[in-house]
Amino acid sequence: MVSNLVEDHSKKEEQVEFYWTGHPFVDAGLAAILLIAGKSKPEELTDKDIEKVINFASELYATKEWSSSYIHGMIFPNSGILMVNPSMSKKRSPKAIAENLWSILEEFKVNNKDSPKCVLCGRFPPYMKKEVYLSVFPLLGTGGVPNFFHSGNTRGADICAHCVFLVQFMPLSSYRLSRVLIIHAYPYELTIELSKGAVEDVKMSKLASQARGFRRPENFLFHLVGEITRKIERDGFWENASVTLYYFICNNQNQLLDVIHVPTPVLRFVAYVNHVDPVGWKRIVSMGWREQPDENKFEELERERSNAVYSRLLNNESILSYFYNSKERRVNASWNLLAFYCKEVIGLDKEALEFIKSVGDRIVETVERLQDHKLDDEIRSLERAEKLYQFEAFFIRVEKLRQNLSIENPLMSFDEFARILTAYGEDINISWRTVKNLLLFRIYEKLHDRLMKFAKSEKIEELGVEENEYAIYGGGVE
Ligand SMILES: [Zn+2]
Repeated sequence: MVSNLVEDHSKKEEQVEFYWTGHPFVDAGLAAILLIAGKSKPEELTDKDIEKVINFASELYATKEWSSSYIHGMIFPNSGILMVNPSMSKKRSPKAIAENLWSILEEFKVNNKDSPKCVLCGRFPPYMKKEVYLSVFPLLGTGGVPNFFHSGNTRGADICAHCVFLVQFMPLSSYRLSRVLIIHAYPYELTIELSKGAVEDVKMSKLASQARGFRRPENFLFHLVGEITRKIERDGFWENASVTLYYFICNNQNQLLDVIHVPTPVLRFVAYVNHVDPVGWKRIVSMGWREQPDENKFEELERERSNAVYSRLLNNESILSYFYNSKERRVNASWNLLAFYCKEVIGLDKEALEFIKSVGDRIVETVERLQDHKLDDEIRSLERAEKLYQFEAFFIRVEKLRQNLSIENPLMSFDEFARILTAYGEDINISWRTVKNLLLFRIYEKLHDRLMKFAKSEKIEELGVEENEYAIYGGGVE
């Protein structure tokens, strides 16, 4: 590491305090500072830490790799503070950048009680030394429209020196895909955990983190969640977590932002499966691509291709049909995992689930007495039921079978029949198709071997996995 670029600052300044703000870009900068300083809380930061981080960042930012293609090209176009404006290339040096960063910190001390407060942290008066547009803070607008800010401040957004300072370090904890990825999470401990990989890559390679070659932000996130869960092995780590991905680019040509919020039940579910049944989870995820990957291909697809299971989870759409493979008539995971998903993500109550399971068991008890080809016929009619009346007809046939086979109790009472057809029909996620998926799951779980024995010679039409592409978020790029 370089020696102090600007030696006397830490001595003459008083201790500066930093805060989490809830703003993803500012918090990303704070996470970078904490990770480089090896601290976990902002109040633990000392002036020595800040000096170390300013020196670390300035050394990198002065290099061409950071300055032109990343900072100027994707985050802070024409930034004067970080000296990325092409006209400044001759004057650019670690020392000059460090001086600029220190000078923001000096502004930090100005605290006029009467002035309006920062719109991001609400603590300090706006930074006045520079106009605050997208060169200073990403995605703020170019300054070409002075009335852009509701405060009517023609000098740009009301953002304080604290927040302007912190955001300058955001490039260190961001991931560089085809855009810039910031992972913001609450509790803030999670923001640090999810940014750690980026800062570690920067320390190792002196370049921005490439997110290990991932090209899809949501795939990368799901991968990280699995990895962190397996590493931490602590119950409840994701319990009340809130995670949001900010996938953006800010340069002179484009200012684009996609916000991808990860529903908390989905986080809990993905953490749970990574604990309980990582192999089953891999099988489920594999079905989200058109081609079924082998072990090596899985990693490649995971890095590069959008996955229907991930997209559906992020869009609050059911992934029940991915829990089984109807082509091979086998289940991809255990009933317990399915039950956890139904309870946590779909919101199906335990009693309803137990009821559907018991109906599934009664169907199995009936059809398993049939000869192979008859058994195959019956299950196929359930697989192919695309309309409610076809679904109804299946139960009536099974009931007739029970009578013919002299099985003592009826398949269902009238009330149960009404319940299975209509009681879960209000919500698009919990409709009769949900029931159908659960029943098929139970049947495959119990009768896979017999069904496959017969099916070997037959080609079974693929059901369940829809072939259309899923948009994850508006206007995403490949
Ligand atoms: Zn602020």
